[in-house]
Amino acid sequence: MRIGIDLDGTVADNFDLLVDTFNAYCGKLLQGKDIKQYSLCKTYNISEQEFNELMDQKEEGIITSSPLIPLAREKINRLVEEGWEVHIITARHPKYKEITENWLQNKGIPYTGLHLLNSHDKLDLCRELEVRYMVEDNIHNAYQLDDGGVNVILFEAPHNQCWPWQGIRCHSWAEIYRIIDNRYK
Ligand SMILES: [Mg+2]
Repeated sequence: MRIGIDLDGTVADNFDLLVDTFNAYCGKLLQGKDIKQYSLCKTYNISEQEFNELMDQKEEGIITSSPLIPLAREKINRLVEEGWEVHIITARHPKYKEITENWLQNKGIPYTGLHLLNSHDKLDLCRELEVRYMVEDNIHNAYQLDDGGVNVILFEAPHNQCWPWQGIRCHSWAEIYRIIDNRYK
């Protein structure tokens, strides 16, 4: 049995670092809870080019200094012990492969596959891998995957809270684990 797991905002807690970075760049004082949509371009009213230029400067630092989402290590290890094959499926650029591998190793996150897609389109890969679940915090990815027949567990975040979602929505890794365990024990 395979499970797909997004990285940023699902395992790596990069959100506050991103908000700090964009606040500093734009001279704003937003808090995480103020961010009601996934697009930071729209939130901060900046162009995609500005976004990309800022991320080129800051993303490596954000990746290496992101803390773990609470309980992600414990619960992902438990899933692996119970026979799940873990695939980390992220929109990060492949140029961050090595620092991503180092981060995952340092944080004790086990995985079989690490897929850096440089794209938010995760549907083909999820289908190819036949994942039983994809754990994801980006509501737009979740809609696309759900439309494509992939079982999504939406990981709660301020930017997806106000968006309608008929599927499973979890607030913690304890909840995610409970849902999977109940379904497959
Ligand atoms: Mg994410």
